[in-house]
Amino acid sequence: MTDKQSFSEKTALVANWQNLQRIFIRPETEESRAVLVKYMEQILFGLHDFLRKHVGITKEASLKKLSEQFTDSRINVNPVKKLADVIRGIIEDIAPHAVNVASPYFIGHMTSAIPFFMVHLQTIVAALNQNPVKLETSKIVSALERQVLAKIHRRIYNQNEAFYNEHIQQPDSTFGSFVEDGTLANLTALWVARNFFFKPRPGFAGVEKEGMMAACQAYGIERCVVLVSQLAHYSLRKAGGVLGIGNTNILPIEVDANNTINLDKLKSAVQAIQKNDPKTKILALVGIAGATETGTVDPLPKIAELCAEHKIHFHVDAAWGGPTLLSEKYRSLLSGIEKADSVTIDGHKQFYMPMSCGMVYFKDPHIMDVVAYHAAYINRPGSVDLGIRSLVGSRAATSLILKSALEIMGTEGYALLIDHGIETARAFAEEIQKRPLFELVTRPQLNILTYRIFPEPIRKEWDAADTQKRKALTERLNNINIIVQRLQREAGKSFVSRTTLRRAGREDTVVLRSVIMNPMTTMEIIREILDEQEHIYHSQFAIQA
Ligand SMILES: *Cc1c(COP(=O)(O)O)cnc(C)c1O
Repeated sequence: MTDKQSFSEKTALVANWQNLQRIFIRPETEESRAVLVKYMEQILFGLHDFLRKHVGITKEASLKKLSEQFTDSRINVNPVKKLADVIRGIIEDIAPHAVNVASPYFIGHMTSAIPFFMVHLQTIVAALNQNPVKLETSKIVSALERQVLAKIHRRIYNQNEAFYNEHIQQPDSTFGSFVEDGTLANLTALWVARNFFFKPRPGFAGVEKEGMMAACQAYGIERCVVLVSQLAHYSLRKAGGVLGIGNTNILPIEVDANNTINLDKLKSAVQAIQKNDPKTKILALVGIAGATETGTVDPLPKIAELCAEHKIHFHVDAAWGGPTLLSEKYRSLLSGIEKADSVTIDGHKQFYMPMSCGMVYFKDPHIMDVVAYHAAYINRPGSVDLGIRSLVGSRAATSLILKSALEIMGTEGYALLIDHGIETARAFAEEIQKRPLFELVTRPQLNILTYRIFPEPIRKEWDAADTQKRKALTERLNNINIIVQRLQREAGKSFVSRTTLRRAGREDTVVLRSVIMNPMTTMEIIREILDEQEHIYHSQFAIQA
């Protein structure tokens, strides 16, 4: 009989008061403590073993079969499992079919390996179970969170010492807010921009109180818009919907050949609206610092100039690229970000935190007053409660994870990760250019690149082809890339994602997309991944081509 069994047999599988108390009272005997420690060990190492054994991600076909296990919609009345069985079940039945995002061969998405210590920090957050919505449920964690906000704010805006000393623990102001993810961070930024513009005036109590219809009447406006490159993350369109702006009023501006916003188009769009469209108000211009699909960074200083000239809110979506600011070598790639009125950064991306953590920062530590809420039982005016200026109510104290991670890593530690990603992506791009089967589509600025299979025979036809013929060739290329990507994913050894890039005057282009963030992803692994793609291509299309 194993220890696991002997422990579990002491408690029967019934829901009664006595058993209930057992799960709330800290175990006092040596034996039961040892068992709980062992469970933690299983979680750390049992799950990690699976990561080593199962590299691939699940085939699409078997998802159907897997979901057949999950078709019973009733909740069991009596307990059916003990903790030990739950953990074993997850390790044996769930983990092997989960996606191994930690594999160095998994280079298709912004979700990747995290340092080991993150699991410990996440466990601490659960064990303390603080709720930063209010001081009464978080106390020291609220003060700590303000410090973390200041540390990141300082990286972005680099204001003087006195500025940070004044605001760091001052309840009347805030450098920003922790939220669940980048989507809510972008929403918060546009929420603030909207409320800041439609502020109260005589006969109008402000948009937050009276809504968009009254706001437009009070300001003599019929429509609000936000301008952002066509590579904008779709969370901005969601924000448009939620805020009553309308998601079609998040206006996409074309990108240049290098996938950054076309400044001339942006300028003329702004001018056209300002000159000819007095009933339309531009609420914000958004620059992307690390576009989700291509990793490209918009010309932030130029967008900042345009915003200053026309007095428009400047938001930078640095959900992905933000932590580049920790790299002395590459932080200049984000220059201009210090001019932003608001900035989005995700913790679960390049801060390598576990899911999930979003942050939004504001240059002006008082601007979030336009979204302040008070309630009688918490968040009273003048209190330190962080929930006063936050889209979210109850939430996990993820600031504790970021603060600890910064202590463990230092800017130097994070810089190693950032630099590795950027430099490996560049080497990856060179490798693609060396291989005749491939075409580099976006040169990496940060650590994301897109490329596609573009076989020589099609290339030759392409050069001689007219528009009609090119359309047909693009379809063929798209089809090839879709199939190779799918077959590679299904083979389960490695994973590169795919997306479709749209450009003015061109056919939609299907591309393979790689995100290099795992420090274990080496050029050797990348060459293997490309070899595999070549192999799949030749086995599927050699005859046809
Ligand atoms: C990931 C991402 C977002 C959205 O973040 P979530 O955390 O997934 O909600 C927004 N913008 C950009 C540029 C992103 O890469």
